[in-house]
Amino acid sequence: MSADHVRYEIVESGIAKISLSRPEKANAQDVRMTYELNAAFERAAADDDIKVIILAGDGNHFSAGHDLRDVVWHDEFDATSTWGGFHEPGAEGWVAREEEIYLGMCRRWRDIPKPTIAAVHGKTIGGGLMLAWVCDLIVAADDASFADPVVDMGVCGVEWFVHPWEMGSRKAKELLFTADFWNAQEAREMGMVNHVVPREDLADFTLQLARKIAAKPMFALRLTKEAVNQSTDATGQPGAIKAAFALHQLAHAHNLERFGICLDPLGVPAKLLETFPPAERRDERRTQRRNERNRERSTPDGSQGHKLKVELNEEKLA
Ligand code: ZN
Repeated sequence: MSADHVRYEIVESGIAKISLSRPEKANAQDVRMTYELNAAFERAAADDDIKVIILAGDGNHFSAGHDLRDVVWHDEFDATSTWGGFHEPGAEGWVAREEEIYLGMCRRWRDIPKPTIAAVHGKTIGGGLMLAWVCDLIVAADDASFADPVVDMGVCGVEWFVHPWEMGSRKAKELLFTADFWNAQEAREMGMVNHVVPREDLADFTLQLARKIAAKPMFALRLTKEAVNQSTDATGQPGAIKAAFALHQLAHAHNLERFGICLDPLGVPAKLLETFPPAERRDERRTQRRNERNRERSTPDGSQGHKLKVELNEEKLA
């Protein structure tokens, strides 16, 4: 099956561009997009001819965040983590899912030892911030705006909790407490984005920046990225992310117990709420899914049957 929620292009020698490509859904990140994005990052990382990776979004917005309507099981793709327990009822299955598709993926993408540049425009909301934040540089169009509104839904910020590093503790608190949007200029003042450029110049400006970086020696770029990332790590960021992730899971577990869904329904749009199965139904689905998976594993050739392979075929995608 070819990738269809992400496009991978080699825009010129040394520069790969990965585009979120669900413009009709404002590039909401579903499970398919997550694994396609991972495959695209891995492809760029493994290609010795690629020195810089650009991440952009098709359509009017960079990303509306996690697709809460997504019904695809992440076990339809090859897991990247060893966490396991994806089909267990209660908080266990939920933590496993978020370790795999959010926290683990963000860590992998942030640690790719090549410079990455996010080019953002329109709205970047909730989980969309995580995609921009894992990149080394962020170029924002002047129409860009940002928000993490998950406190409204009874959770303490998105899973990749780097808000205090991206905007400073005081702004992080205000913007999480209020769920207000901040604009490109404010993002630049906070140090969250490197440049703000007119919308029509976003692609060109980002490419020029990528070109300048791609002219440097690859090994020095890798080492420089490592040196800066290690400096951030030395401030305690990895431990703080894990601690915040535990609180995030406490919030989900509380909401599951109290409301039967992982979010506080107070802040979830009514239409979206209808799509959430009640707790018993969700656990039933998990058990059913586990049984299906066990049956697939016991097929005579031991194959995992229908597993969806993400193929990033440039010819098909370019
Ligand atoms: Zn979550």
